[in-house]
Amino acid sequence: MIKVVVIGSSSMDLVVTSTKRPGAGETVLGESFKTVPGGKGANQAVAAARLGANVTMIGRVGNDHYGKEILENFKQNHVSVDCVEPVTDMESGTAHIVLAEGDNSIVVVKGANDYVTPDYVKRAANKIKQANIVLIQQEIPEETVEFVSELCNDYNVPLLLNPAPARPLSQQVIDRAAYITPNEHEAVVLFNGLSTKEALKKYPNKVFITEGKQGVRYYDGTKEVLVPSYTVEAVDTTGAGDTFNAGLAVALAEGKSIEDSLRFANRAASLSVTKFGAQGGMPMRKEVEETL
Ligand code: ADP
Repeated sequence: MIKVVVIGSSSMDLVVTSTKRPGAGETVLGESFKTVPGGKGANQAVAAARLGANVTMIGRVGNDHYGKEILENFKQNHVSVDCVEPVTDMESGTAHIVLAEGDNSIVVVKGANDYVTPDYVKRAANKIKQANIVLIQQEIPEETVEFVSELCNDYNVPLLLNPAPARPLSQQVIDRAAYITPNEHEAVVLFNGLSTKEALKKYPNKVFITEGKQGVRYYDGTKEVLVPSYTVEAVDTTGAGDTFNAGLAVALAEGKSIEDSLRFANRAASLSVTKFGAQGGMPMRKEVEETL
């Protein structure tokens, strides 16, 4: 089994559905409420475990009820929580989501995710050293992403950086990461001034730009390649990017070629959008292999 270390956020999503979105100072009656575990780090860890990897999460939760539920969800999905410590007197990360009028509005409170600091990650350096691949996103402090890129370089462990949510990256982090996976919007922020074509060409076999149901684009050293996704009945695209990144990490760490890895990631992500919720639709390894 390959070893994947995921360094990132975990949170609880509090989801309300309503026919009407409240305006300032207004109260409306909603229709339903549910809590579902989320956070890009946690989503990617769960997806990688379902895809057959041995996964260790490096993250933090609050010392509240949500923290316990988040830990329980990791355990149910066979993600190791040895490196997920509660933060004293701090709440878990939460996302407050209103689904109304055919769109969502979201308020994110980072909570304990702000405590995934370089010093905290350093304590798990041994796990990182032994990993086949490390997967990181940007819902944790910027200096932690910098630090992890340095550590991975020192240990010669490939780093897959999913630059979501978008924020500019230092050239050093871009250079140190083995793979970078922005969606089209994130690519604009990341490669400020460069067109997609130029950005891909500048980083052959390293930058993979996801384009929703179209699939994913990269430059193979001689030409631009679009690896198309699979046609599915999309129910909820939340978590598509997370499943894609987990699939890509697992496949690359197993030694599959870049093109085969992207195909595997597309298949996993396309299956994930056929069910409700970020983690709800994340497929098991078998489902992906049977339909590749
Ligand atoms: P994000 O969710 O980060 O915005 P994308 O929307 O680009 O990222 O989706 C990531 C990947 O998920 C795509 O490259 C593709 O493989 C898959 N995907 C997303 N939406 C669909 C869809 N409607 N049908 C099939 N595959 C999809």
